[in-house]
Amino acid sequence: MIDGTNKMREMDVQELPILVIGAGIGGLSAAIALRRAGHSVTLIEKDPNWSVYGVGIIQQSNVIRAMDQLGVLDAFLDAACGFDAVEIYIPNGTRVARVPSPALVEGKPANVGIGRRALQKVLGDAAREHGAEIRLGLTATGFAQDDDGVTVSFSDGSSGRFAVVVGADGVYSQTRQAILPDAEKPAFTGQAVWRYNFPRPADLDALHVYNGPIGVGLVPMSPDTMYMYVTTPEPDNPWYPKDGIAAAMRAKLAGTAPQIQALAEQITDDEGVVYRPLEGMMVHGPWHSGRIVLLGDAVHATTPHLGQGAGMAIEDAIVLAEELTRAATPAEAFDAYRGRRYERCRYIVENSLAICHGQIGKGPPVDNHKATAEMFAMVAQPI
Ligand SMILES: Cc1cc2nc3c(=O)[nH]c(=O)nc-3n(C[C@H](O)[C@H](O)[C@H](O)COP(=O)(O)OP(=O)(O)OC[C@H]3O[C@@H](n4cnc5c(N)ncnc54)[C@H](O)[C@@H]3O)c2cc1C
Repeated sequence: MIDGTNKMREMDVQELPILVIGAGIGGLSAAIALRRAGHSVTLIEKDPNWSVYGVGIIQQSNVIRAMDQLGVLDAFLDAACGFDAVEIYIPNGTRVARVPSPALVEGKPANVGIGRRALQKVLGDAAREHGAEIRLGLTATGFAQDDDGVTVSFSDGSSGRFAVVVGADGVYSQTRQAILPDAEKPAFTGQAVWRYNFPRPADLDALHVYNGPIGVGLVPMSPDTMYMYVTTPEPDNPWYPKDGIAAAMRAKLAGTAPQIQALAEQITDDEGVVYRPLEGMMVHGPWHSGRIVLLGDAVHATTPHLGQGAGMAIEDAIVLAEELTRAATPAEAFDAYRGRRYERCRYIVENSLAICHGQIGKGPPVDNHKATAEMFAMVAQPI
């Protein structure tokens, strides 16, 4: 599998055997981008059922552009619900602005809402169609690196030899722990988010954002469905048992706008509530060690206040594949990759955290509307 030389490129693009750890949003995007660049890809996922929360995610204009670059835009848009504006509401329920959002791909929506399961199916189908080998219920248990490659031990007792290993195993990345044990760790912010799916009202054609001490958003996700997210201060990081969690979510909405309280009456299914304490993390040092490199939440986990966490992971994947295909050595590729990604990811992590801290009194309040407009301008720049 390895050619015995540290050089990755001679005259033509050479197929590299690459292991991607973690078949989430970033890992699947990496598998697609690397296969399209001609490399051989094995993708391992520790969850044997490959389960994903049944709620949705916002993807903005730069993600629409990235899906185009990955060659999956049509399937992605078919599975999503496009929208071109954000409506801002104040806590008494009055709409104060409808802000158009700019599109980056001509003739396509500026933003979409999409179910996480639908997104995984689009990316998973494309990764398989491009020839990535996806192995579920498998993790890496050890890495032995030399100048020419990495021998990886797997949790089923087998092993494999790869030119490059990509750790896309999320915010609690074991790959990061193995290669960069002293790197930054995720830190709880003091805030949490609750999410629940609803039937979509026919006139909901934009993201509705309700500002206030309890932040609420309504996100169109398909022709028939939308999801609600609710951000709440949770300074003690409590654990909410599944039994009764729908009632707990309804209680959090008690002081919100009348139309939100009316919707809250439909939150009755404990199984449908997804609660998540919010954490942030930015790795400021190197993102690789030897031939093992990290992407996505494994190196920059953001709170969702700018709706860009998945977007950053997808863009990482595209840039990493480009650099691996262009550079002479893995080290050169990894340095170029981090050089192109660090500032943008740092901006998203730090500005999302500033909004979060402003909402819970841990920092000065941030004008969410202005911060979002600035973010749109920044992510519109080429990756
Ligand atoms: C509440 C919340 C709301 C969010 N909303 C948005 C949003 O609206 N828009 C947006 O763009 N982003 C959003 N995000 C962020 C987004 O979900 C993440 O940034 C994105 O999922 C990161 O992708 P990833 O591939 O790096 O990690 P993940 O998607 O977490 O994938 C990691 C994968 O690796 C697997 N894995 C873990 N450990 C191992 C191992 N040892 N071996 C093998 N496999 C392993 C996991 O099972 C998983 O499948 C939100 C995040 C949160 C918490």
